[in-house]
Amino acid sequence: ERLQWQQLVNAPSVTKDGRQFVISANIGSSNDLPAVLQNGADEVGLFRTEFLYMKSEHLPTEEEQFNAYKTAVTGLQGKTLTVRTLDIGGDKPLTFMPLPHEMNPFLGYRAIRISLNRPKMFKEQLRALIRASAYGPINIMFPMITTLDELRQAKRIYHSELSHLQKQQPGLGNQIKIGIMIEVPLAALYAERLAEEVDFFSIGTNDLIQYCFAADRGNTSVSYLYQPLNPPFLKLIHHIIVSGHHHQTSVAMCGEMAGDRRALPLLIGMGLDEYSMSASSILRTRSMMSNLDSEACHQLYQRAVTECETAPEVEQLVDQWLKQQ
Ligand code: PEP
Ligand code: MG
Repeated sequence: ERLQWQQLVNAPSVTKDGRQFVISANIGSSNDLPAVLQNGADEVGLFRTEFLYMKSEHLPTEEEQFNAYKTAVTGLQGKTLTVRTLDIGGDKPLTFMPLPHEMNPFLGYRAIRISLNRPKMFKEQLRALIRASAYGPINIMFPMITTLDELRQAKRIYHSELSHLQKQQPGLGNQIKIGIMIEVPLAALYAERLAEEVDFFSIGTNDLIQYCFAADRGNTSVSYLYQPLNPPFLKLIHHIIVSGHHHQTSVAMCGEMAGDRRALPLLIGMGLDEYSMSASSILRTRSMMSNLDSEACHQLYQRAVTECETAPEVEQLVDQWLKQQ
């Protein structure tokens, strides 16, 4: 199997009937780049920048960040690098910036909430990213966007830094696309409106599932509620994708669900554009995709949300369906 997959390293990510998608990698630092290239990722769909901050004893300077992003985008040899701005808080601490002890850290001060509250730090990261975009294609996405107002604030800060930098270097950053993670239920529900404001969505199913099912993603006592194939949840994912497409906003997924073999035919059936996962899952996914028919996947999705009412029912439906492919 591994040998067959190896032949897919430079192949496009297409279904049996020739529909093309993007299969990309999630990375935590430029140390992950060799694996990204060896496994033939089409792009990097999620660069989790928090590790840059977590492994440092001080707040990384603009220059340090610029170098890190430049190294990453240069190493990708023309493939797009989608960078998520700092997603700290929740379960991820920083040594140099003590965060308040909270009763419910996942519902607390984290991600874009911290960035908007510390604009100086946020601006340094954005400037480093805009400058690094001179060395290759970079997209920027904001984590944990909940309200339209937060998105507007983040975009305002971004555009102000962009125009400052463009005074010195006209045109710099013009090709950067701006997107948001969809990982808070409210954002998923009004995706139609958010889609008007951004170039792309990336669905963060790890958090979206945690918040939809009200079940801490790290708590094994409630891990039975990790149900990516639950029918109402599938409908929510479908709603996000349709809403994005309605406004020419492309829709990616970068949570664990994107690399789940049972989820793949359902997500293809919903028309999800990009699948971002750990590099080691890419060739298996590309191989599986090449054996699936997109119209048949669409019918499978329809059956899953009409004939099934629970996650185990969908799992069984998909397992039986996959055996017939
Ligand atoms: C997610 O929430 O699905 C996601 C991709 O982000 P993280 O796992 O880093 O929270
Ligand atoms: Mg998340």
